[in-house]
Amino acid sequence: MESFEVAVVGMGAMGSAAAYHLARRGARVVAFEQYDLGHVRGASHDTSRIVRTSYGAPEYVRLAQSAYRDWADLEQESGERLLTITGGVVFLPVDGPYAAADFTSALQECGVPYELLNPEQVRQRWPQFGVPDGVETVYTEDSGIAHAARTVATLQMRARVHGADIRDRTSVESIVPDGDGAIVRTSGGDVRAGRVIVAADAWTNALLEPLGAAIPLDIMQEQVTYFRPADPEPLGPDRLPVWIWEDEECYYGFPTYGEPTVKAGRDVSENRMLPQERSFVPSDSLSRELAEFVGGLIPASGPALRTVTCQYALTPNRRFVLAPVPQHPAIIVGLTAGHGFKFTPAIGRVLAELALDGESTDDVSSFGFPSP
Ligand SMILES: Cc1cc2nc3c(=O)[nH]c(=O)nc-3n(C[C@H](O)[C@H](O)[C@H](O)COP(=O)(O)OP(=O)(O)OC[C@H]3O[C@@H](n4cnc5c(N)ncnc54)[C@H](O)[C@@H]3O)c2cc1C
Repeated sequence: MESFEVAVVGMGAMGSAAAYHLARRGARVVAFEQYDLGHVRGASHDTSRIVRTSYGAPEYVRLAQSAYRDWADLEQESGERLLTITGGVVFLPVDGPYAAADFTSALQECGVPYELLNPEQVRQRWPQFGVPDGVETVYTEDSGIAHAARTVATLQMRARVHGADIRDRTSVESIVPDGDGAIVRTSGGDVRAGRVIVAADAWTNALLEPLGAAIPLDIMQEQVTYFRPADPEPLGPDRLPVWIWEDEECYYGFPTYGEPTVKAGRDVSENRMLPQERSFVPSDSLSRELAEFVGGLIPASGPALRTVTCQYALTPNRRFVLAPVPQHPAIIVGLTAGHGFKFTPAIGRVLAELALDGESTDDVSSFGFPSP
């Protein structure tokens, strides 16, 4: 049987980043993807993802700070430009469930520059936003956009350059703990690995359940819509920041990016379905709700042009899991609960460190395995 130091399950953003860091460190690594590389059935396809340090909890701010260093390193090593910095705003209605003070104190604690703006200041600075009164706005200049598909392709290409053995259209059927490591049973035959990184997102429990280690996951089909403004110029990345509306219902969006459209979505659509039940058909009612919201916040955004579906696998409290399975320490899980893309190269490095060193140089103690 072939033998590897580390096997990675799943070649979305997180698995691709883990394979890249493992191979770059010289480990003998094999990685499996059940579909074609770059497929649209998971969470890592399409163009843009928001990157930001702006979170209401310091552990995520600190991980984001690390991630910016890893993005810079990846861009330098690959020669690819993956981030576009636009600045970013988080809108927080004062009577809503999220407090601007949580954001400002977390940013302050971690030394990230920010501005707290009132609606008048927002409207003066970005007249494109029709922000109502009663909204506090946290601005951070470091926010921006990661190109999702290009990032994943770059990570896979660089992983291969560093010697990773990436096997697409190869499904991992089970992971069987074996001595210090595990046997990985796949549709293309079995391999032995000293460590296994499970970066399977919505499919994670199909592998963990037989090990008695399932994680509660809330899985749903998400959707994002591209709107076509009559005049894209004022909505360009040099004129409009990325934005997040944090209320009972959360929305987010982007300036134009590579095409004369602006993209927006609702975060957590509650359109629940398992991966094998995905329809890939956008919900009309979610589309209407989004168009109404975006038309109010950015009146010049224009009509909807197209809608793309995606997938969330949410852990309890949307907390990351970056940890070994307690009963099977050779098996390490990476789950990012629908907000992980901005951390991609850092999470790949952390998972590689957990596999090769048994610990990470980042403090990931708050991203442990959830108790059943
Ligand atoms: C609409 C949308 C918008 C988002 N916006 C943002 C944002 O603005 N900012 C941000 O930071 N994050 C954002 N996210 C979240 C981010 O994109 C995800 O956290 C991240 O892409 C998850 O990556 P992943 O590799 O864990 O999952 P996936 O991309 O789903 O990859 C998992 C892979 O594992 C493979 N796999 C599973 N089981 C097996 C098996 N048994 N054998 C072989 N292969 C297997 C799957 O086929 C899949 O390719 C967004 C997500 C969505 C859906």
